[in-house]
Amino acid sequence: MKKVMIFCIPAHGHTNPILPVAKELVSRGDAVRFYSFDEFRDKIERTGAEFISCDRFLSKLSRQEEENMKNVNVTEMSIQDIRITINMTDFLDSEYKSFLPDVIYSDSACFWGKLSAWKHDVPLVVSTSTFAFNQMSSQYMKNSPKELTSLLFGLPRVQKEFRRLKEYGYKNMGFLSLVQSDNETDSVVYTSKRFQPYAESFSDRYAFVGPSVFSDKRPEKQARPLVYISLGTIINERPDFYRSCIEALKNEPLDAVISCGNAVDIGTFGTLPDNIHAYPYVDQLDILSKASVFITHCGMNSVSESLYMAAPMVLYPQTNEQQAVARRVTEIGAGKLLKDDSAEGIRKAVLEILGSKSYAEAAALCCEDLRSCSGAKGAADHIENAPNPSDGRDVVKELSKAVVTEQILYNVISVVLASVLFRFISIKYLWIYIAAAVLFSAPVKNFFQQAHYKKLIAR
Ligand code: UDP
Repeated sequence: MKKVMIFCIPAHGHTNPILPVAKELVSRGDAVRFYSFDEFRDKIERTGAEFISCDRFLSKLSRQEEENMKNVNVTEMSIQDIRITINMTDFLDSEYKSFLPDVIYSDSACFWGKLSAWKHDVPLVVSTSTFAFNQMSSQYMKNSPKELTSLLFGLPRVQKEFRRLKEYGYKNMGFLSLVQSDNETDSVVYTSKRFQPYAESFSDRYAFVGPSVFSDKRPEKQARPLVYISLGTIINERPDFYRSCIEALKNEPLDAVISCGNAVDIGTFGTLPDNIHAYPYVDQLDILSKASVFITHCGMNSVSESLYMAAPMVLYPQTNEQQAVARRVTEIGAGKLLKDDSAEGIRKAVLEILGSKSYAEAAALCCEDLRSCSGAKGAADHIENAPNPSDGRDVVKELSKAVVTEQILYNVISVVLASVLFRFISIKYLWIYIAAAVLFSAPVKNFFQQAHYKKLIAR
């Protein structure tokens, strides 16, 4: 019997995949304490794990902070994560002392789970409800200039909060180790190796276990198509979009179900057409098992569940992480990006998916692939065996070494070019040149990394 502490941030998308894993651990006789928030109490208690409420450690947010959190602002989320960690310190110290856990299972975005495991030297396994993101796979995420600026200006604020952690006895592992996946940490990822971008760059400390779901259902598509629409549980306050969906589908020979979240008043849609139903929350897996098309915001759980139920997708990503997921779905042919979100654009996209077999076939292929993964059992094995053995290979480190020559060459060429260029143009433009050189260095590095990657993984 193992003693397991589970930590997660207050978000359905992060909590849901942990639930079947918690239930599996409990069924094996492990003692499982699940540290979460009252909103999730019921579903956590249904797994048999002991629910420990952490609501009292949430900081009171100003209106601006609340707005930032709603918009998944990375700076704000990091700052709040650090504050919760600090608020929880005394409580967690005494919990570790009394419970003496064998292993910590922490959501990847949950700083207090990771930091407390490092502080108390307990083996850590990270639960990754998105793709695993390292130097290679994060190339799938494209930050807009606005996001980059916000990140850049937010960094000093995050660093200031981050430095406070030392006073509370937390080890200084560097901010990056808190937010990025590395090859030395045990991790569970709820997708297949086939679906994970650059899967070969992850060490055998990673378990790709496929979607972690409670459903035994198989896809059971209906003769009359069913379209399911959801923008997830976080950024879902989009009555305008749901109205466009209603307008797009009301006269089509199909049924549609909209899950619009609690923040949207369904009454504002007026009398709904007979073929369309709207609810604040639905049993998503059940609906997906029958759905022929899923209009989705591309949250990782939603997309995995859709593929698990062989439902092709109209992809409407809202954040850059969701854009990365959308890109991967497009690559495997199981979905189409929604570029025009007007009623006409939505109608066209849905009809294209319904009218072409290729999308459904690609989704069906993925369904079989995901169902062949080890699921909650595989995740539980990985947690119970932590720290897991490794063959020691780290493709990311090998890549960093492999591109050193090209990086030095790039820097030398940049300097030589500058010395030639500034014989002919005024030195006052130097800052433009430096900015351009810095800006280009990332795509240049990516280009060479890609070139080396293929060679490295072939070895
Ligand atoms: N979900 C659900 N019913 C709903 C809407 C969402 O069960 O009506 C679940 C869905 O099955 C998924 C999670 O909520 O497991 C949403 O996670 P995702 O990562 O897709 O998006 P997020 O909410 O984190 O943006």
